[in-house]
Amino acid sequence: MKNTSLLKERVAVVTGSNRGIGLEICRQLAAKGMLVILSCRDKAQGLAAAEKLQKQELAVRFHELDVDHAGSIMQLAEFVEKEFGRCDILVNNAGIFPDSLSGNASGETDSSALHVKIETINKALTTNVYGPLLMCQALIPLMKKNNYGRIVNVSSGLGQLTDMQGGYPAYRLSKTALNVLTRMFSHELKEFNILVNSMSPGWVKTQMGGPQAPLSVEEGADTAIWLATAPDSGPTGKFFKERKEMAW
Ligand code: NAP
Repeated sequence: MKNTSLLKERVAVVTGSNRGIGLEICRQLAAKGMLVILSCRDKAQGLAAAEKLQKQELAVRFHELDVDHAGSIMQLAEFVEKEFGRCDILVNNAGIFPDSLSGNASGETDSSALHVKIETINKALTTNVYGPLLMCQALIPLMKKNNYGRIVNVSSGLGQLTDMQGGYPAYRLSKTALNVLTRMFSHELKEFNILVNSMSPGWVKTQMGGPQAPLSVEEGADTAIWLATAPDSGPTGKFFKERKEMAW
């Protein structure tokens, strides 16, 4: 592992990165020379995932993080400040898909706006929206110090308003709301060279995407890496898929 005591490289925080797209984002950012904080809820899983990358000579550190809890987010931010004194990149990747696809005996399904329970929507908003909001609030002060920041919100085509359809109401609401955060933060941070964008990874083979998904995690992570490493002249307040801007 690289010596981090004379840290010159950029520090990146990736949420929900014990597996799936988040883990691949950690790998690719570290391979580009970043010092990456791999974070997740389960300590054993996080340490094992970090160790795998460290064995490939990648500079990866683990810290616990549950984005549903403000206290956990504050602890992570304190760790980053104390250990590295900076944060250059934040990838809000952690996400859940709480809409259940099976219905009850009357055929009512939580995956219809007609029947969805408020608790299901609350779950999605807590993890997919309030989590990223609090992560931004906790880490942006460290970005402002260096007049540099790249924030990537891992959204979804299911949050795209121009193509909004029925089904998956909790997930759709949460990803559209995440895109709202992208717009608001990007406007408030323009003068600090902090670029904030949303991206859709496409349908990716992960625990969430399932085995029938056509894309690999490498492909799913690509646009996030591109945005996380964008130059100062790069985009902000936009929504991307396959490195191309998409309509909100
Ligand atoms: P995944 O394999 O299910 O991974 C989700 C990650 O989020 C896991 O590491 C999970 O940790 C973490 N997570 C969930 N709740 C959390 C919390 N409260 N605090 C911290 N971490 C939490 O899914 P994925 O496909 O890699 O998804 C990554 C992102 O891509 C998500 O935002 C998802 O919405 C988005 N996305 C995925 C697809 C797709 O086709 N796969 C398509 C569009 C968008 P645990 O292991 O602790 O549960």
